[in-house]
Amino acid sequence: MYERERKDLVETLKSKGIKNERVLDAFAKVQRHLFVPDIMKQHAYTDVALPIGMGQTISQPYTVAYMTEALDPRPNQKILEIGTGSGYQAAILNAMGVRVFTIERHHDLHKSAVKIFDEMNLKIAARWGDGTLGWQEFAPYDGIIVTAGGPSVPENLRKQIAVGGKMVIPVGDKKIQTLQIISKISDGQFNIKEVPYFAFVPLIGKEGWKEK
Ligand code: SAM
Repeated sequence: MYERERKDLVETLKSKGIKNERVLDAFAKVQRHLFVPDIMKQHAYTDVALPIGMGQTISQPYTVAYMTEALDPRPNQKILEIGTGSGYQAAILNAMGVRVFTIERHHDLHKSAVKIFDEMNLKIAARWGDGTLGWQEFAPYDGIIVTAGGPSVPENLRKQIAVGGKMVIPVGDKKIQTLQIISKISDGQFNIKEVPYFAFVPLIGKEGWKEK
């Protein structure tokens, strides 16, 4: 279903500058309409963020593609995602052959993402909790991708990146953030590239924004 729309979405991503073939192949494979509520399905392949309940969103496909391209994960690498949401970003990483670990703070969203992973037979380790603390048990990670915007880079996450690994994280105020692409050169030494003008829902937790 929606094969034509999926191909068109891949063309849109290419026209916006996404080049990594492994990322584009994953977008051609993963059925985004399975990750959005029924009434949104007809918009699933439009390049926009869509509501998924609990005041949260499935990110815009271009943003997912941009962050994934920046992370550049390789097959069998271990990647930690903070903010499972609908589960779509995790499924994109899974389609790239990555070992995915993902954390969501809303129990209902966590449960519905796990249900979709099970129905699709995807081997993704998903946990309910505060992702700003990371997932120490399986650390270090070759990559960490944070899909919500925080006021600063959580120290726990910084520590859980493997040397030679990367983290992609939006940092800023609650409305607008800069995407930080952080490469860990050695323990305590990081290279940071910044890309402005992203807008994510807030990262809420011990090392994020405080809940009202
Ligand atoms: N990656 C998601 C997708 O593909 O649908 C995008 C989800 S949305 C833009 C960001 C998610 O981060 C929300 O579901 C939100 O509840 C979650 N979130 C915010 N703060 C969090 C935290 N401290 N730990 C885990 N999840 C968090």
